[in-house]
Formats: sequence, structure tokens, C-alpha cells
Amino acid sequence: MSDTQIDTKRRVVLKISGEGFCPAHERGISMDAMSRLAEQVVRSSRKGIQIAIIMGGGNILRGGQFKAANNSIKEATAHYMGMLATVINGLALQDAIENLGGNTRLMTALHIDTVAEPYIYRRAIRHLEKGRIILLAGGTGSPFVTTDTAAAQRALELNADVLLKATKVDGVYSDDPEKNPHAILYNELGYTDVLRQNLRVMDQEAITKCKDNGMPIMVFNFRKEGNLERALGGERVGTLISKSTQ
Ligand code: UDP
Repeated sequence: MSDTQIDTKRRVVLKISGEGFCPAHERGISMDAMSRLAEQVVRSSRKGIQIAIIMGGGNILRGGQFKAANNSIKEATAHYMGMLATVINGLALQDAIENLGGNTRLMTALHIDTVAEPYIYRRAIRHLEKGRIILLAGGTGSPFVTTDTAAAQRALELNADVLLKATKVDGVYSDDPEKNPHAILYNELGYTDVLRQNLRVMDQEAITKCKDNGMPIMVFNFRKEGNLERALGGERVGTLISKSTQ
């Protein structure tokens, strides 16, 4: 495609936290969990949807938590360890997708040239245009932030139609639905509602980036059968966060 042609394909950035890569309430990596995600991603990619996936690393290590439990580690080091955890997830997800015949490129914000390409945004766009599923590991490449912020950043620079946030609950609630059975599930929210009410969706930096640049976010439950494929295809399956609802 020449630079002047417009690519009208749907393009999504999908954020999957580490909890998506292991069985509920466990840690580590489960290739079965990876394969369940991969099946839906590969089917969606075959329909022509351009997909970039940002992997979290919380199933292996979160920098802040590791530092809190280990005085002798420097906080920045702990965050780099967390970023490396996302690369481990990326390698596993790449094989899960390729086992199903999907075409992938693993790109990392930290340079690990023997197993992954460095993240270069123009190259990432080219991969998407060629129908490759890109797996973006290493977060932003900088410590003290999370992969939510990386997801917002990449959604903006890759000019995605939407940022999809896969979670273990059905969307955004007024309270933690795992603790409060009366928590209300929102169908739609404004960015400012999320920020003002401090609803725990993504970190505030990520929400603010999306708000400032008009990037819609859809929060949905990846554990419900077929939900991921529906979300990738553009169906409303959770809470849509976009401009103010008032
Ligand atoms: N991390 C970081 N910079 C980034 C992205 C991630 O330092 O740009 C570190 C941070 O310590 C984080 C860890 O990597 O806790 C794993 O990512 P995250 O907590 O976002 O994973 P998730 O909770 O989504 O599984």
C-alpha cells in the first residue's frame, strides 16, 4: 500500500494483564490459557482486523510489589524485572498464536534482539497493515509505570480505533464486584467519571492519555466464552469509556 492510500481496516490495541495468562487465582504461565486467547485472536485476525497486543506481567512479577517485599532491591531494578516478565509472556503467546497458524511479530521496548524485534512504530504499523498480529512486550521500556500506560501510549501512536482492556470482570463497576455484590456495572462512562470517582479500571495516567486524545477504551471480561472475539470485532461487550456522558 502506498503512503497516500488510506487503510480502512479496523485496528485495535488489546491489553491483556498477566492474569489472562494463568488459571484464575494462580500465577505463572499456562499454555492452555494462552491458547484460549490465541484461538480468538487468530480467528479475528483472519477476518482482517489489525491487532496489537500489549502483555502485562503480573502473573510473574510486578515491580512495585516485588520492591515492597524485598528491601534489598532497587525499585527501578524491580520494574525492569516486571518488564522482562512481559517479554516471557510475549514469547509464550507468540508460540500459542503460531501453533494455530497465526502470523506474529514480537516487538519489545527493551532491546532483546535475539528473540524479538525492537519496537519501532513505523515498522509496527507496517506489520499491522500486512496482517501480522503484533505482540508488544516490555511496556514503555521505562520503569515506574505499568503496561496500562504502555497500552494507552501504543493505542495513540498506532492510531487504533479503540483500546480494549481485557479483565476478569464484566466491565467497570461502581465498586469491586468480587467484594461488593451490590456493585453496579456501567454500560458507558466518561473519562472524567472514571478519574473523579477513582474507578479502578486502568491507572490514571493511561486514562488521562486516552481522555486528552479521545481514544475510546472498552473494558470487558475475557474469561466469558467468545467475548474476546466479539470485542475484537467491534461488538459492545463491556463498559465503553469515551467522552463525558453528562
Ligand atoms: N513495568 C514498567 N514499565 C512499563 C510497563 C511495566 O516498569 O512501561 C513493570 C512494572 O513494574 C509492572 C510490571 O512491569 O508492575 C508488570 O506490568 P503490569 O503490572 O502492568 O502487569 P499486569 O498487572 O497488567 O499483569
